[in-house]
Amino acid sequence: MTAISKEEWFGHPKGLFILFMTEMWERFTFYGMRALLILFMTSQMQFEDSKANLTYGAYQAFVYTMPVWGGWLADKLIGQRISIMWGGIMMAIGNFTLAIPGDTAFFLGLGMIIMGNGYFKPNISTMVGDLYAEHDERRDSGFSIFYMGINVGATLGGLICGYVGQTINWHLGFALAGFFMLLGLMVFRKGQSTLGNVGLPPENTQMNKKVLSFLSMKNAILILSVLMVPVFAFLLVNYKMINYIINPIGIVMLLYVIYFGLKEGSVAFGRLMVALVLIFFSMLFWSFYEQGGGSLNLYAARNVNMNFFGIHLSSAALNNSINGAMVVIMSPVFGWLWVKLSKLNANPNSLVKFGLGLVQLGLGFYMFVLGAKTADNGMVNLFWFAAGYFFMTTGELCLSPIGLSAITKLSPPKMVGLMMGMWFLASAFGQYLAGIIGTMMAIPAESETGAKLTAMESLPIYTGIFNQITMVSLASGLFLLVVSPFLRRFMHGVK
Ligand code: GLN
Repeated sequence: MTAISKEEWFGHPKGLFILFMTEMWERFTFYGMRALLILFMTSQMQFEDSKANLTYGAYQAFVYTMPVWGGWLADKLIGQRISIMWGGIMMAIGNFTLAIPGDTAFFLGLGMIIMGNGYFKPNISTMVGDLYAEHDERRDSGFSIFYMGINVGATLGGLICGYVGQTINWHLGFALAGFFMLLGLMVFRKGQSTLGNVGLPPENTQMNKKVLSFLSMKNAILILSVLMVPVFAFLLVNYKMINYIINPIGIVMLLYVIYFGLKEGSVAFGRLMVALVLIFFSMLFWSFYEQGGGSLNLYAARNVNMNFFGIHLSSAALNNSINGAMVVIMSPVFGWLWVKLSKLNANPNSLVKFGLGLVQLGLGFYMFVLGAKTADNGMVNLFWFAAGYFFMTTGELCLSPIGLSAITKLSPPKMVGLMMGMWFLASAFGQYLAGIIGTMMAIPAESETGAKLTAMESLPIYTGIFNQITMVSLASGLFLLVVSPFLRRFMHGVK
């Protein structure tokens, strides 16, 4: 049991708000930079669309693969706090490197961010979980608040860095993103006293053991991590290599978790298996949800009437910022709802919430299908597009923060970091699959007659796939709802 400061704010441990602010600025940096990334590649580096998209896809997949390493190392050796400091500093340096013109700096900067995100991202969420005692009913609500911080940062970062980068100077946009990461780290350092001994290195850590007379294990790993940066830069230049990397990592990690889980006894093993079920369904969720950054943008450009009372909305803005803003507005509602329901003893367990999340995602895509039925000359009314996004977002709120919370509840304490890494690895796979699903909706530039494809012709191509996504999401959501009473038994009292 960790000694956390007893002081509370808004009914939650005060440390939650320190982690909220730290993560908020980190996500400001991450999404601020991401808002510029593709556009920078196509307009400044003269990459063709497909090369830019594939480089972006590989970057995203690596970004979400490395938390497996960062989470594991924190569990085993350095604890979450050191990992977050390392990760934050690397992310800041990565962004400052992007501020330097030239292709070499560009790829090295991205490599540094991949490494930094791996150290930062899983561990801040693990620390949130550690603020709560084992059966504390406030945990899901705490994660909903934390998730709000993520999206405040994402929304502001996308808007501010996006604006500065595109209208003033691209490199300044990246530098600004890096600056806010440093701000996040300052908040984190200043707030240490609210965190008790949450996130300190494991008791029997070997991190200070000397591997050479002048070099501790910890420093050796740090040096090796920096040496990995050019390796990632190389892999991004050769972006197709992701195909050979992600699958073996997924399989090896899965076997590793099962093997170590078996050693932990049947209760822990049962819980871990439920965590893996949740991770699997989250992968499915993200592979559909992440159409938002790809095919849905193109669909909006071709088939949605994006006029809102005379103002033309860009779909990228809708995806990056309006979705984030919707999360910010609705997170407190969900946070409140979970607390209220647990007071009535009716708070659904994580499996049910996941089922509901997938059903809502399905409803979201069904809005696009419905919109197509009432389309005018192949053009869908904005209302349907916004309604689709609304349900995708409510679905996200039943799944993403709940998943973070569930991982911290279902994993044995010494494996939480690793399992958090597995949670993000599912996002890497989701991102990767999203790209493949997106290509199923690739619209040929010309019809058989050689004319540019019209909205009437592209609409059925999109709608056919949206319809299938609806079916699969609804079916898997309903499946989870049906099997949840059975699987719940393996959770052994965890909600
Ligand atoms: N948008 C959330 C974040 O940035 C979730 C991302 C994910 O898990 N794919 O933290």
